[in-house]
Amino acid sequence: MPDANKIPTDGPAAEHKPSNFLRAIIERDLAQGTCASLRTRFPPEPNGYLHIGHAKSICLNFGLARDYGGVCHMRFDDTNPEKEEKEYVDSILDAVQWLGFGWEAHGQSHLYYASDYFDFMYRAAESLIAHGHAYVDEQTPEEMRANRGDFVHPGKDSPFRSRTPAENLARFREMRDGVHADGAMVLRARIDMASPNINLRDPAIYRIRRATHHNTGDTWCIYPMYTFAHPIEDALEKITHSLCTLEFEDQRPFYDWLLERLIEAGLLEAPAPRQYEFARLNLTYVITSKRKLAQLVNEGFVSGWDDPRMPTIVGLRRRGYTPAALQLFAERIGVTKADSWIDYSTLDIALRDDLEGKAHRGMAVLDPVKLVLTNWDDVMGAGHLEACTLPALPHPPEGQPAPAARQFVIGREVWIEREDFEEVAPKGYKRLFPGNKVRLKGGYVVECTGCEKDADGRITAVLAAVVPDTKSGTPGADAVKVKAAITWVSVADGVAAEVRLYDRLFTDPQPDAGGKDFKASLNPASIRTITAYVEPSLAQAAPDAKFQFERFGYFVADRRDHTPEHPVFNKTTGLKDGWK
Ligand code: ATP
Ligand code: MG
Repeated sequence: MPDANKIPTDGPAAEHKPSNFLRAIIERDLAQGTCASLRTRFPPEPNGYLHIGHAKSICLNFGLARDYGGVCHMRFDDTNPEKEEKEYVDSILDAVQWLGFGWEAHGQSHLYYASDYFDFMYRAAESLIAHGHAYVDEQTPEEMRANRGDFVHPGKDSPFRSRTPAENLARFREMRDGVHADGAMVLRARIDMASPNINLRDPAIYRIRRATHHNTGDTWCIYPMYTFAHPIEDALEKITHSLCTLEFEDQRPFYDWLLERLIEAGLLEAPAPRQYEFARLNLTYVITSKRKLAQLVNEGFVSGWDDPRMPTIVGLRRRGYTPAALQLFAERIGVTKADSWIDYSTLDIALRDDLEGKAHRGMAVLDPVKLVLTNWDDVMGAGHLEACTLPALPHPPEGQPAPAARQFVIGREVWIEREDFEEVAPKGYKRLFPGNKVRLKGGYVVECTGCEKDADGRITAVLAAVVPDTKSGTPGADAVKVKAAITWVSVADGVAAEVRLYDRLFTDPQPDAGGKDFKASLNPASIRTITAYVEPSLAQAAPDAKFQFERFGYFVADRRDHTPEHPVFNKTTGLKDGWK
């Protein structure tokens, strides 16, 4: 039985992807047999919703495994008891699958929780102590900080550094058994207080913290530090290439040191995993810190984690971005070792490239004014509605059948855009003005005769005469030449829809760079809700269906709020890069 979740092992896809330094390393290691097959991991901490930066990491780790016939582990790095929740675990699994990846490979599930390794981590710590590689430090946090030194001054040894392994072991067990208060002491690796790399100046590896863990409950009152836990997780899972962001580069010597010690002690098997660093994604006008995104949610600046303005995966999804677009985006930005900013338009270009051949077309009038065809009843018959069609996809992808055409009607009254009429036409204006003819797209040619206004001079209706025998798709259609075709929706079958128009959430291209207060650059006009009229095929859309509203851009039926009775659309992006 073919398994949809199975990662293909014949991986020819790799040959078609642009190369990068990570692919070069992996290809070298596979060719030299340094590793028999690739094993990567995606290791989020379940303390929030994933964002576009994580999407880069997911596409990278799962994508490399797919391309080279390897496996990518889905691992929750849940070693920090305070901030982690089941809600986040579920949303992360959902995000990875929605992006098009899975953790089943070769008939096996590769879903892991770092907290399942707490017993092993504890034993590893005892082993380090026994071999003189770790000690319990009872200095206060202030003393520890002062004695760590800095870039110019070496650190000073703790007075507790020379305790015997037996003393340290007894103390560490007391820590585990709850004898000491939170923060009273920590276990530190014993490496080199004079190392030029401050991360090697006896880093803390275990701390006392009385907190209930979402997986292990109250079993532990000591928890491993991330820098200690992560290499062990990688090694236990036999990860070959551990890919992380650049800020971990200075941690790599400790990563290697720790695994060497544990291999020496016989606790882990060689070869150890290798860590490689790549630049994290920085996207203009976007913040990618879970903590700051949580502030936006908790302080009510957005409606929730899935607010369509949020750069979270749930937000992007609700806004109308597709998994294919995000994968394409990740491929195009590539991976490098140098930090840089990616322009937001790169994401929108990937979306348009994905949707151009897929999203069905539809007409919507966003700023409606009524157009009355004053001669309709005389030439077409009183109350007559004429059936019209337009293709759902004007250019279906090669080899694919065209989807069923859209059906709608035209009658005496239609909605048009207010901007498509001018009483006095500016130079070059080709749309409706008295005496000018235009085509109602997919319908008839009409000739403008004037307008009606209210007491304040505001235009309440545009008037025109339908030109008989000019219906699109009929033999007479081209007999009358026009310079413009405008979009419209019939009053008879158009449906009122709530349309949410989004702008950037921030006005500053780098809202939180250099310690800036990102809340200071929140865009006060990042959402505008209007009532539009849409053609019937749009009102009938399934939630989450994507469309190209002709002339306006890409829109999605809101996955939470859209119903055929009350259609709701989110604007994803315009047809061109319209940001100014
Ligand atoms: P945050 O600071 O927002 O909490 P994080 O890096 O702490 O993000 P984790 O859950 O620890 O989030 O990250 C899981 C994985 O996603 C890590 O391997 C991390 O390197 C990667 N990641 C997070 N943010 C980005 C980003 N902006 N670009 C690329 N990868 C990222
Ligand atoms: Mg983190």
